[in-house]
Formats: sequence, structure tokens, C-alpha cells
Amino acid sequence: MVLSRLVSNFEALNKTLDGREISKDEAYQIYQELQKNPAEIYQVSQILRNQNKGKTVTYSRKVFFNLINLCRDTCSYCTYKSELGQSKISMMSIQDVLNLAKIGKKHRCTEALFVTGERPEQKYQEAKTWLKENGFSSTAEYLVHASEIALKEGLFPHTNAGNLTKSEMNELKKTNVSLGLMLENSSERLCEDGMPHQFAPSKNPKARLRVLEDAGEIGIPMTTGILIGIGETPFEIIDSVFAIKKTHERFGHIQEIILQNFQPKPDTVMKSFPSAEGTYFKNMVALARIIMPKMNIQIPPNLSPNSYADFLSVGINDWGGISPLTPDYVNPEFSWPSIDTVEKNSSNAGFELKARLPVYPEFISFVNQNLKEKISEVVDFSGLVKKECLA
Ligand code: SF4
Repeated sequence: MVLSRLVSNFEALNKTLDGREISKDEAYQIYQELQKNPAEIYQVSQILRNQNKGKTVTYSRKVFFNLINLCRDTCSYCTYKSELGQSKISMMSIQDVLNLAKIGKKHRCTEALFVTGERPEQKYQEAKTWLKENGFSSTAEYLVHASEIALKEGLFPHTNAGNLTKSEMNELKKTNVSLGLMLENSSERLCEDGMPHQFAPSKNPKARLRVLEDAGEIGIPMTTGILIGIGETPFEIIDSVFAIKKTHERFGHIQEIILQNFQPKPDTVMKSFPSAEGTYFKNMVALARIIMPKMNIQIPPNLSPNSYADFLSVGINDWGGISPLTPDYVNPEFSWPSIDTVEKNSSNAGFELKARLPVYPEFISFVNQNLKEKISEVVDFSGLVKKECLA
């Protein structure tokens, strides 16, 4: 058989193709081999992708609610976070949320992505006062209310608000079909002096992994991910994928891994740091697919606008949330491509673009019954969004 000849000298690859798991050491070996012989490894990641995900690539049609972008922490690469008095500050009122939800619905969005900084009220009295004036004692409490508004308007909420407690997540589970929390990286080294998470205690990997585990205990589908190119070693990325894998093996609730390539932002400490190098990023995508062949793997298309075919060919099966009306506040200098552009590029690479909800079809069984009923109105037999809901 051509395939077994192709990989016969590399047992770790044979294992993945046989449906067996590889160890972390074997993943390290594959990384080293990638430096010498990438073609064979890319081919294996492509086979695994096509075996597990077919020729479909998904996206979620979303509206981005930048609820409050003050943040208790400071990550050296972050341009999302605002300070008081800066023009980019966002503190959305209840009316703003309602208005945007209505516009999102008109644009046939299905996802309401709620994003906030990490517990702004712990650092900024102004945030505390603003929350109080709106009738809330915490950002999490406001998120619960904002999610209720979006759900009522016909959008499906997905919240990404940093490290939430178990009881906060339990409340959000009533309206949110999934939650998001980037692991970023499992290495504590990146929290040391001079490293990007030095001033971001919430990015301590132990804290992040604990939240992912709490979400698992509650049974919430979780989106997580790794930020690539922030001073980590390739082995630390492999360790991070294995850390996510371990959590997923315990609870089965990790619905996707986002692999995000670092891009320097002019107003940040890391403004002179180079972008994640293209081949390095591609190799990490291929490795992630080989380590977790069945996982949904996403890269944001606005951060790699010229490389659709490249990433589809080594393992991704999702382009994440794409908004036809709101900017990417996390990467404001990279506007979203139009959905038509994503569709055309995917099709040119041999893949069919389909819309999903912020919960993947295989995780709909996790969500609360009231949400399942709403979901059933907009999805087809495969759990993906019905075409007529987007027209
Ligand atoms: S990345 Fe998140 S936690 Fe870090 S500074 Fe930005 S908003 Fe805060």
C-alpha cells in the first residue's frame, strides 16, 4: 500500500494512521522530523483531517459584542484591552446590547460573541460604578443578562470573559451554547519576568486549566486555544496541545482548539516582536492535527489571508467566527474577509464552506434543554445551520 510505504520509516506516523495515539515524545520527534521532511508529515495530517472531517470546513456567522474592554490584567501583546480615557474604550449599555443584537439578527448572524477583559471591576472603580448603575454587581452578572437579551433576539451566545468561576459558568450555561477560554500556552515560563504573561495572573496555565476542568465538570462545550509566536518553544506548544488533550480525555467537552498566530500590535510592549513565522505556524497546525486527529481545529482567516489552501491542506476544519458587521476587536488591524471570499478560497482548495452555530454539532447534546429546542429550529439533520436561515 502506497501509504504504508510512505511512512514505513517513521513509526509515530504509522501509529496515527492506524488510529493509535502518539506520546508527547513521539510528537517531539515528529516536530524534529518536520524540519527535515515536512512533505510526508503534511500528507499525514491531511489524511487525518480528511478521514475525520471530510471535505467540509465550517465557520460561525457572528456579531462581536465588545461588552467592556477594561481588564484587570496586562498581557504584553494585547491591544484589545483599553485604559480609561482611550478612544477604543467600550462599555456597552443594555440598550447598546439590544440594538446590536437586533442588527446582528437582521444580518442573519447566528452567534452573539460576548467578550470582556478579565474582571474589570476588580481594578477600575469606574467599571464597578458603571456595572452598579446598570444593576449588576459584576461583569459576569452583566454577561448573564446580556446573553439573555441576545438569546431572546434569536442569537446564540458564546462568552469569552477570562477565568470564570464554576457558579458563573453555571449561570451562563442557561443561555450560552458554549464558552471560550484561550489556554494561550501551558508553560509557566511565559509568566516569568520579561515574558508576555508576567502581568497577567489570570493567564497562569494552572488557573486556566482549572477553569477548563470546571467547565468539564459542569458539561459546557469549551473553545480553547493556543497563541503561537509569543516567545514559546515549539515543545511548549506540543505540551499545550497535550494539556488540552488531557482535559478533554477526562470530560470530553473541548469542542475546538483555535491556533492563533501572533501579530504584533503597535501600542503594545511586544510591538517590535516578529509575527509568528509562516512555516512554524503551519507545522504547529499539522502537529495539532496529528496529536488530536478528531479535534476541531480552527485558525482565524483574517490573520492568514493569503494562506487558505495551506492551512486546509495540513489539518484545519474551521475558520471560526466571521462577522459581516462588527470588527475583530482583538486584531483590529485585520478586518474579516467577506464570507463570500472565505467560501471561494475554501472551494478553490477543494472544500465546502458550511455555517455552524457557536456549538459544534457533536456537542449539541451538552447544552441545556431550552437551548436544544431553539437550536433544532435553525439546524439541519447534520447539526449545521440551515441554508435558509442565512439567506
Ligand atoms: S489578553 Fe485578555 S487578559 Fe490579557 S490584557 Fe488582553 S483582555 Fe486582559
